[in-house]
Amino acid sequence: MSHHDALAIVTPEEAIERLQQGNERFLSGKTNHPHIARKWLEETCEEGQHPFATVIACSDSRVPVEEVFDQGVGDIFTIRVAGNVVHADETGSAEYSAAHLGTPLIVVMGHTKCGAVTAVVHKDKLEGNIHKLVHNIASVVKRSRAKGFKGDALIDDAIRENVQESINGLLKGSTEILRLVVEGKVKIVGAIYHLENGRVEWI
Ligand SMILES: [Zn+2]
Repeated sequence: MSHHDALAIVTPEEAIERLQQGNERFLSGKTNHPHIARKWLEETCEEGQHPFATVIACSDSRVPVEEVFDQGVGDIFTIRVAGNVVHADETGSAEYSAAHLGTPLIVVMGHTKCGAVTAVVHKDKLEGNIHKLVHNIASVVKRSRAKGFKGDALIDDAIRENVQESINGLLKGSTEILRLVVEGKVKIVGAIYHLENGRVEWI
């Protein structure tokens, strides 16, 4: 694939399709490991980056974003933070990608068995900066609990609600992202990565 093929991605739908196809390759074990050749590194270094998707995912070491979508250098603008929470830093990063790099898709990707969500559900004692980190997750869990969920079902629901919380955070936190979404230039979608089998579920 040449640099121009990567540049050809213009719509959010094409970007989603490319991620879906990459995850299918990952699942089937038929990965291409694209865009890692030395020549490609030199080319992207010279011409600048044109990632076709922004992915906000958890820092969990079992959620390697480029791997699960079978993508390489310059393909995904990846923002990873424990619990895939969205505050000013994450919003600013996504805003840079959407507004300055022209990346047409933002994916907020939670994952099953997320430790950050589980810790809040289990009311683990979270001190210092971890307490601040999971601030948004605490209100998410409160809402899931109010719906009557308990145990593993509560964790599962909170993981899904937390994806929506982060999507809302991007829209509320950035008038620029909101404008691009309203104009149809950028699409924001949610996803859940299943640790059990490597599948990305689109929600
Ligand atoms: Zn996690």
